[in-house]
Amino acid sequence: MDQNKIKELVEDIIPQVESWYKWLHQNPELSGKEFKTNHFIVDKLNKLTHKGIRNIAGTGIVCEIQGKEPGKHIAFRAELDALPIEEKTKVEYKSKNKGVMHACGHDFHMAALLGIATIVSENINSLKGKVTFIFQPSEESLPGGALQMIERGLFASKKPDLIIGQHVLPDLPTGYVGFRSGAYMASGDEIEITIEGKGGHGALPHLANDVVLALSQTIVSLQQIKSRFVNQTEPFVLSFGKIEANGATNILPETATAHGTMRTLNETWREAAKEQIINIVEKTSQVFGCKGSVNIRDGYPVLINDKHETEQLKQLAINILGEEKVVDLPIRMTTDDFSRFAQLIPAVYYRIGVTNKNKKDVGLHSPTFLPDISALKTAMLLPLTVIFQ
Ligand SMILES: [Zn+2]
Ligand SMILES: [Zn+2]
Repeated sequence: MDQNKIKELVEDIIPQVESWYKWLHQNPELSGKEFKTNHFIVDKLNKLTHKGIRNIAGTGIVCEIQGKEPGKHIAFRAELDALPIEEKTKVEYKSKNKGVMHACGHDFHMAALLGIATIVSENINSLKGKVTFIFQPSEESLPGGALQMIERGLFASKKPDLIIGQHVLPDLPTGYVGFRSGAYMASGDEIEITIEGKGGHGALPHLANDVVLALSQTIVSLQQIKSRFVNQTEPFVLSFGKIEANGATNILPETATAHGTMRTLNETWREAAKEQIINIVEKTSQVFGCKGSVNIRDGYPVLINDKHETEQLKQLAINILGEEKVVDLPIRMTTDDFSRFAQLIPAVYYRIGVTNKNKKDVGLHSPTFLPDISALKTAMLLPLTVIFQ
């Protein structure tokens, strides 16, 4: 199918896709509870011809469309869930669910993917190979919907040849896309440290263990992993955002805890850093006569884009959007469980610009984040070109 035909099909479906986007934006649901969202998508997909649909991993949906001729099998993924944020935009389609908001653009991804599925189904004669549309629950919450879908047999019959995920990025203007091959997004693990000791009178510290001081010293020592343990060419983040010690001005408590996150871009360093955290916590707390322990909750792995497929997709984007609209992305220390798919199949996770040139960009997960609706065109154009090339 030629590019002008694809553009025409996208123009025709845009009003429909915009209305789907607005409905989804108005009806956000939290991770694992995307019931209305699931019904909305299944209802739209059920209206298509030549498809097979199945529910998987709770609210997850898989829709497959097989072309008449043989060819590549490509999967696309969109996420269903929203965030526990009270929306502060002023649009008429703002969230109807108090304290819940699509602040990560997953509504945008779903609407674009529904539009793409509709066009593919209506143009089945031009389709070579097979397209799988994955609507994944629970991206924003561990252990993540991607793993649940995989464990319940998402790719049990046969793996696709390629999986593509597109995610909005407010740093990029509308009409732009961004790529990075190789490691692009971080692994993210939750770290919980507990220091235990003998409590006592604040005025008589020599008769007790100061778990607060032990925890403070431990956190300072842990920051040396970044400066002295990890190779300086490796990005590494360790941040603690929650500390608890329930003593009083004159009471030394028996327990102190810290909760944080660790991010890396290398699975080998990730494992080595975990061991070093345990080592530092145990040894430092011993110096204070306390007992230190670490509980690590494994999060998403490093997201690695396939070099060859990313280069091909980038070249295709240059051909259809122009060189000036295709940018190289820097690495990012945030996470996405699309990385679970990328561990199994050659994958490309790229970014789509959603900020109108006349507006200031507002970050993802912010109560005023709102993608430029006109970027939905680009969000359909590139995947459709990949499918019908
Ligand atoms: Zn998010
Ligand atoms: Zn997201």
